[in-house]
Order: sequence, then structure tokens, then C-alpha cells
Amino acid sequence: MSLLTVGSVAFDAIETPFGKTDKIVGGAGTFIALSASNFVKDQRIVSVVGEDFPQETLDILSSKGVALDGLQIKKGEKTFFWSGRYHNDMNSRDTLVTELNVLENFDPIIPESYQGADYLMLGNLAPAVQRQVIERLNTRPKLIAMDTMNFWMDIAMDDLKQTLGMVDVLIINDEEARQLSGEYALVKAAKVIRAMGPKTLIIKKGEHGALLFHGENIFFAPALPLEEVFDPTGAGDTFAGGFIGYLAATDDISFDNMKRAIIAGSALASFCVEKFGTQRLLEISRADIDARIEEFVHLTNFEMTTVIG
Ligand code: AMP
Repeated sequence: MSLLTVGSVAFDAIETPFGKTDKIVGGAGTFIALSASNFVKDQRIVSVVGEDFPQETLDILSSKGVALDGLQIKKGEKTFFWSGRYHNDMNSRDTLVTELNVLENFDPIIPESYQGADYLMLGNLAPAVQRQVIERLNTRPKLIAMDTMNFWMDIAMDDLKQTLGMVDVLIINDEEARQLSGEYALVKAAKVIRAMGPKTLIIKKGEHGALLFHGENIFFAPALPLEEVFDPTGAGDTFAGGFIGYLAATDDISFDNMKRAIIAGSALASFCVEKFGTQRLLEISRADIDARIEEFVHLTNFEMTTVIG
């Protein structure tokens, strides 16, 4: 099945307790597309970059089956730039710079060749832009998933609520779920958020795994306990890409398959944090991914003997 991915393709500059980078390739759309490409072979991306963006990265995306007809290259303009610094716990970060550049007036044009996509992943962008993409599709995809962030809750809550009413799956972190719902307890928060539209909700809890709410069911997936987290940038997007990529490749949106998709997403995210930016995602093979998924199975599998008396 085909996947349409929408999200920023960007430059990032990252500082962690382990070191810092100059401008490197990042962006939610880049992480999603690279991650999903491990499962889905027919992927199409809608995004925008400036003339300064490296052709080499575009060639890598093409080589992984990502169609670029909907990736606009703006002559004489600069690519979106984000810079962040992580705290010692690696769970929290400060945004140092956000230069919207080409994203400022982004008009997500959908090429004719993209119409009919089966699955849609809306990366973190202005909710009005996310909605425009849905409205510009001639046929509704089988499943629409979206990401968002606190920033949009602060400045565009009405837009965000409208977009939420049009999607099937929302993927956010625990802090965002609390802000969106006004509830601290995540089960209560999930109830409030799902009443806004998305029937399925995934709440990511960083190194503490992720919760899936679907119908009457709840599933918990752990994050792989890693000795060292080098750079968490893009881990959330990589998770989302693995999740939707797995669903699109298997074309099964049942609760049981969503559980498998969450493990696939968690496995990809566990690679992403091992090196700066997209570096690790570019190195891994299908065998690496399979081995890591197997580690997840062992991590959570146990037998229990009944204690009598
Ligand atoms: P994550 O670590 O999963 O939150 O994603 C980080 C990625 O999101 C980075 O590669 C940034 O380029 C990108 N990003 C950060 N802020 C924004 C924004 N306001 N709009 C779009 N993409 C962003």
C-alpha cells in the first residue's frame, strides 16, 4: 500500500551533553520518511526546502522509494532551520533557534501522481496546513495519522481542534496530552482527546515507552532500555514513521496489528537516538531491525506459574 508523508525537511543544529553539530539534515518529514521506508516501498512526500538543501539527501530519499514530486525547492530561499540543546537527563530540551524560512508560507501542493494514497502521515506542522492536505486529497486515505506539539496548542488551538476532527490516529507525548486535555491522568486525558476526533491515540512517554488507546483497549509498549542515548532528536518522528510504515506495508489497521506497529516504531526510534540526526537511520539494515524487534519480544515476554494457597 502507498503512504503519503507530510512534514518538515530541515536543517538542525543539536547540542547534547555528548557533543554538538553544525547544521545537519533533519526535519520531521525526513525522519518519518526514512523510518517508514524500511517497511513501505511506495512512499510520497509533501514538503518544501530552499535552494541550500543538499541534493545528496534528496537522492537518498529517492533511492529508498520516496517520490519527491511534491517536495518543492524554492529558488533563492533558505531551508527551515531548528536548533536545540538537551539537558543532562536527555528527556528535556530548549529550542535555541527556529527559522521558518520556506515553511513560513508553505502551500502544500499535492501532485496528481500522489492522489489515491492509501495511508497519510501528517508530521508536526501548522494544523491549518495539515488540514489543507486532507482537503486536497480526492479520496480519503484508509487511515490518517497526525503529530502535533504544544506550540500549536498555544497559538492555534481552534485550528488544531478542527484538524483533530478529521484524523484517525493522534501521536503525541505525555506532556502534550496533558496540555491538550487539561487532565493529568493519562487515561482521563485519552478519553477527552479521543472525544475530539481521533479514535486511536498514542501517547509517547520517551524512555518510558508508549501507550496505545484503541476502542476499549489499551496496550503498553516499553522503550528499549539503552545504555546510552546520544541524541533524541527525531525519535518521535522516527517512531511515527515506523508505526505508519508498518501499517501501510501490512495493510491491516486492527488493534492487534497496531500493537505490532508500535513495536516496529519503538525499534526504529531506539536506533535513531544512537547517533546525531539521521545518521543511524541511514546505516541500519533490515536484519538489524528484525534483531531489535526480537529484543522487544524478549523484553516483555514472561511465563508465570500460578501460586496456589
Ligand atoms: P522530534 O525530536 O521528534 O520532536 O523532532 C525534531 C525535528 O522536528 C527536528 O528535526 C526539527 O527540524 C523538526 N521541527 C522542530 N520544530 C518544528 C516546527 N515548528 N515545525 C516543523 N518541524 C519542526
